[in-house]
Amino acid sequence: MKYFSTNRESNEVSFKEAVINSLPADKGLYFPKSIPALDARTIVNLKDASLPAIGFEMMKDFVQPDLTKSQLKDIVEDALSFEIPLVQAEENIFSLELFHGPTYAFKDVGARFLARCLGEFAKKDARETTILVATSGDTGGAVANGFYGVEGVKVIILYPSGKVSDLQEKQLTTLGGNITALEVEGDFDDCQALVKQAFLDKELSEKLNLTSANSINIARWMPQSIYYASLALKMQNAEEALIAVPSGNYGNVTAGMLAKRMSFPLGKFLVCSNANDVVPRYLESCEYEVLPTVATYANAMDVSNPSNFPRMLELYDHTFDDLIQDVSGFTLHDEQILETIEQCHKETGYVLDPHGAIGYAGLKERLKIDQQGVFLETAHPIKFAPVMEKALGEKLEMPEFAEDLMLKQKKSTKMSSEYSEFKNLLKRTS
Ligand SMILES: *Cc1c(COP(=O)(O)O)cnc(C)c1O
Repeated sequence: MKYFSTNRESNEVSFKEAVINSLPADKGLYFPKSIPALDARTIVNLKDASLPAIGFEMMKDFVQPDLTKSQLKDIVEDALSFEIPLVQAEENIFSLELFHGPTYAFKDVGARFLARCLGEFAKKDARETTILVATSGDTGGAVANGFYGVEGVKVIILYPSGKVSDLQEKQLTTLGGNITALEVEGDFDDCQALVKQAFLDKELSEKLNLTSANSINIARWMPQSIYYASLALKMQNAEEALIAVPSGNYGNVTAGMLAKRMSFPLGKFLVCSNANDVVPRYLESCEYEVLPTVATYANAMDVSNPSNFPRMLELYDHTFDDLIQDVSGFTLHDEQILETIEQCHKETGYVLDPHGAIGYAGLKERLKIDQQGVFLETAHPIKFAPVMEKALGEKLEMPEFAEDLMLKQKKSTKMSSEYSEFKNLLKRTS
């Protein structure tokens, strides 16, 4: 498979190059040259298949010829080693629970797949790769965990001191091994600026063989389509269901659109946003107007200009009428996020996290009589404990995994947001 840039100025590249480059030089996004549709027989045969088996079938054309079948088989088995159950929340509403991975958020799926792809490439190149990531919380944990123990790959994570939750900090700082956590005195933007400067620094980037684990990397984006396929196979009449996806950077929902293009029977999409609602507004007006980012309770979705938006246009051949046939938008503000969490808990006993709550509320408003809906539950509610307490009026019970994690010893290196200090540190660790 070849990949082109959505800006159409950079050259086409192979899977491996697209993964390693992450971003094409023209700053577009990589996109597969063709989307292979699976035939009806293959889809029927996958009915009772495991997630790795579905993943293998879906990814095999995309990774050719850079990964062999047996390499891909190992990658999907390792990356998709946890359950993604479909849970009934009430009569017509189901939750696709994506939070049963090691860091309790759906980003585990993409991060683990990417990590294992890079691990395979590093083996062949016999050269250590260093992944640099700046995180405001969730992504870093998924990336750190995804790469933990992957040979030939070292990970350096920068996070803003005092600005991530305790649980998130433990996820970043307790792994050790090939994972190093740098605690930066500054905010997320400072962390991101340091990472950007390191990539532009030829001396450093060559010495360390720097790569990014950015969320727009195709090896993080495409495997997310696997759980939509599993949904299509598991749910009766999934092609009639409304699929509500809490969205920030729009990687998750566009992966669902990819699964649908590959012929999995899936219904229409409801893209659900918090106050950062550029895409729902676009779907109403055909005007894409970026406004300043607003902080919300669903903070993993606080994105004002979603980087995967060009992929959405690409998936519908840049035809607005086709897009709105299949996709509509929904927005929920903070006060209603709290109300939704409380109401759903009271009426059904189901505990939504602040992101999933937006999807659930979207279904409550938009489902037609007798229509079934699914929302994607993108993270475990305990990751947002203070918001949950506000919504429910009581503390959430701490699950065992969180208790265990909180007992672990934090290991991080403190530093200022000065580039020279960062650079010296990197040179010493290499
Ligand atoms: C990242 C994230 C989202 C948004 O997903 P996108 O792919 O960026 O649209 C939603 N919920 C949670 C919990 C997340 O971590």
